[in-house]
Amino acid sequence: MLSKVGERGELDTTGGLRRFLRALSRRPAPSLLAAIAAVELVRLFLAPQPVDLVVIVMLLLAGLVIARHNDDAALAEGARETEAESFARILRGLSRSVSPDAIVAAIVEELGAGTGADHVSVVRRRPESRHLEAVLSPTHAGAPASRTYLPLSTLDDPAVEDAAAEVSILAAQGRRYAAVPIEPDLDGDPEMVTLGLALPHPVLAAAGVEGGEPSRAAPLAERAPLPSVRLATGTGHAAPIRLGAEQRIADRIADRLRDEYGLRNVVAAPLRVDGRVEGAIVLSRRTREPWTPRARRLLAAAATETSAALSRLYTLRDAEARASTDALTGLPNRRYFDEYLGLLARRRRADDRVGVLMVDIDRFKLLNDTYGHAVGDHVLREVAQAIAGAVREGDVPARFGGEEFVVLLRNPGPRVAVEVGERVRRAVAELDLRRLGVAKVSVSVGVAVAHRPEMELDEVIDEADRALYRAKRAGRDRVVAA
Ligand code: GH3
Ligand code: MG
Ligand code: MG
Repeated sequence: MLSKVGERGELDTTGGLRRFLRALSRRPAPSLLAAIAAVELVRLFLAPQPVDLVVIVMLLLAGLVIARHNDDAALAEGARETEAESFARILRGLSRSVSPDAIVAAIVEELGAGTGADHVSVVRRRPESRHLEAVLSPTHAGAPASRTYLPLSTLDDPAVEDAAAEVSILAAQGRRYAAVPIEPDLDGDPEMVTLGLALPHPVLAAAGVEGGEPSRAAPLAERAPLPSVRLATGTGHAAPIRLGAEQRIADRIADRLRDEYGLRNVVAAPLRVDGRVEGAIVLSRRTREPWTPRARRLLAAAATETSAALSRLYTLRDAEARASTDALTGLPNRRYFDEYLGLLARRRRADDRVGVLMVDIDRFKLLNDTYGHAVGDHVLREVAQAIAGAVREGDVPARFGGEEFVVLLRNPGPRVAVEVGERVRRAVAELDLRRLGVAKVSVSVGVAVAHRPEMELDEVIDEADRALYRAKRAGRDRVVAA
């Protein structure tokens, strides 16, 4: 306690001056004004003169101007922080639980309010998709969104375009050799590409230019040390191309949207997922008025946050997909199947029928013993594909464990369920496994359908299992209904 008082006392003796100096270094103008005002006040008291009054009035005016300026700066800074924070918060919250569509909806709302845009378009590649999906959303309530698709080539690296343009010029000049960008800059600058001597390349072929020296036609790994940044042998063109690639891709997307929808005034920012441009956010409006710095800042913040949110979401989905897929056969695994059953049980309506096929490979142990485990694995994969190919899209096949599979059938009649079982049995029997040295493989199938609405799914599975057992006892390679 004592020592604290001591410390505080010590600080107080020198602290005033130190605090003043610190304030002076941070905000020199107001601090100096305050110091001069203090001196003037003392002089006014001790030996008042008219000039002191004038100085004090001028000081007051100067103080007012500075205070006003500081307020404006603080407000602008505050607004900037709130913009960025509000995006970060909204998207952090969203990305934990929801779909990319919800992320997109949140962006449209925020950007519409803050930028004066008439439309916000989010253009992105959905994982595994072979085109870019563009959703153009009006920022005014009530108007419907519109969807269109752009070719994936819209995302192509502009370096290839640059090369194509250069190559056409060279071709027009009658040159036989040219160079194409072969890889990102070796020094790691993402905005540069290293150009190598010409190699057979689609860009060259399209431009009708022959490939370069055959001795250079090495696999990519061996091309790395290529020293040349010359665009064509003998042209002396040595300048590497500055790309600004990401923004150029975003601008290209904006151009395509402008053509498609007849938009007048567009501005775009790229969306990056795992270090690649996978789309863009595009603002558009009817007036030609330039976009304000605030609108551009909001757009950039939205693009950055959306990119992060989409990356997190895709990583999560990826991990989930891997965790729910059987690595050997590629079918959903037991864990996924159980989860699916749980969901179905909760959502099931009273009149929903559910059917189950239990499928087990016949004498598989013998097959393993005869041909080896590796061949056994191949056969498992083939059988899995045959089963998946024999059921409808809404049905869920899964690897139940070992050499057993299960198929969940949605709303089948008992006859239909047996028919599907028979289709599965036949698909496996017809597999051509000669290249594995295996003559034939067969499965036995047990079929059960919930005959009472309140029947538990576990009960249906047990019935299908008992039917499977009877199929085995009856001689295998057959379908038996419960
Ligand atoms: P049944 O006609 O009565 O079903 O005879 P079976 O030999 O198929 O039945 P059993 O259950 O005795 O043997 C199943 C075999 O499946 C034993 C096991 O080694 C094999 N198996 C299970 N999982 C795998 C796998 O992932 N790869 C391979 N190669 N074999 C597997
Ligand atoms: Mg078996
Ligand atoms: Mg078995």
